[in-house]
Amino acid sequence: MESSAAARAGFHPLRVSEVDRLTDDSVAVTFAVPPELHEAYRHLPGQHLALRRTGEQGEEIRRTYSICAPASPAGEPPVLRVGIRLVDGGSFSTYALKELTVGDLVEVMEPRGRFTLAPRPGHFAAVVGGSGITPVLSIAATLLAREPEARFCLIRSDRTAASTMFLDEVADLKDRYPDRFQLITVLSREEQQAGLPSGRLDRERLAGLLPALLPVDSIDGWFLCGPFGLVQGAEQALRGLGVDRARIHQEIFHVDDGSAPAPAPRPTPRRTPP
Ligand SMILES: Cc1cc2nc3c(=O)[nH]c(=O)nc-3n(C[C@H](O)[C@H](O)[C@H](O)COP(=O)(O)OP(=O)(O)OC[C@H]3O[C@@H](n4cnc5c(N)ncnc54)[C@H](O)[C@@H]3O)c2cc1C
Repeated sequence: MESSAAARAGFHPLRVSEVDRLTDDSVAVTFAVPPELHEAYRHLPGQHLALRRTGEQGEEIRRTYSICAPASPAGEPPVLRVGIRLVDGGSFSTYALKELTVGDLVEVMEPRGRFTLAPRPGHFAAVVGGSGITPVLSIAATLLAREPEARFCLIRSDRTAASTMFLDEVADLKDRYPDRFQLITVLSREEQQAGLPSGRLDRERLAGLLPALLPVDSIDGWFLCGPFGLVQGAEQALRGLGVDRARIHQEIFHVDDGSAPAPAPRPTPRRTPP
């Protein structure tokens, strides 16, 4: 039985209905939503879910995962699907990749988050790294399906083609909307037969690349998602190109080692003169 305290906090136990392997180190997990919870789990494209479990020592392990499925139109059941990438030694992602199976119950919080785009006419773009594709897949798929006057450019950075999440889903957007969906892929550890040379998608590279790919000034909204270093580099490149802060939306999944913001210097205590 669901406890009323859990339900008040927005958590409900949902049954896993599908676990699909995306790559060697990532899965897509779909939850069944009972009809009485359809409205509670209706999400905006780009929102995320908190998932919670109890660890071996009885501790609560709670992590956030973005919804990759497009937002369902009103009247249709919501599709709750998240993409989870394995983090070495990571407690929740290891459980999701190695243990979670169809039929399991998971505590799932109702959708939250402001990294969203309500479909409207315009030209939008995203810069994503690794699992940062997850919310942007929902944003782009919902936008292109619902708004014929919208265009979307996805610039994605991954290590190798084999480790790229949602390769087929993104290729499907390209097939369905050849005139409205533009895809640029950069692999950091592998050369591609066609496309851009390999390497990191850092601030300098983006500053040179973006104006060659897009009319940067007339993009209506930028969506940056992934590790802190990539999101920060993309934001700095865009700001350097004169993009207004109000047009830049960010979702940081993880602060990677070495790229965390330097802690603010401590104020030197004032000495009162003797
Ligand atoms: C808003 C938001 C949305 C997110 N959406 C997704 C998503 O759609 N898909 C997804 O796979 N993840 C997503 N994440 C990241 C996710 O919440 C977890 O942080 C991640 O799965 C690691 O959890 P863990 O319990 O396996 O690792 P932990 O046990 O928390 O961490 C183990 C070690 O790995 C490091 N670490 C933690 N997270 C990462 C990471 N992402 N990459 C590399 N090292 C890491 C930690 O610093 C620690 O040293 C999102 C995070 C946020 C804040």
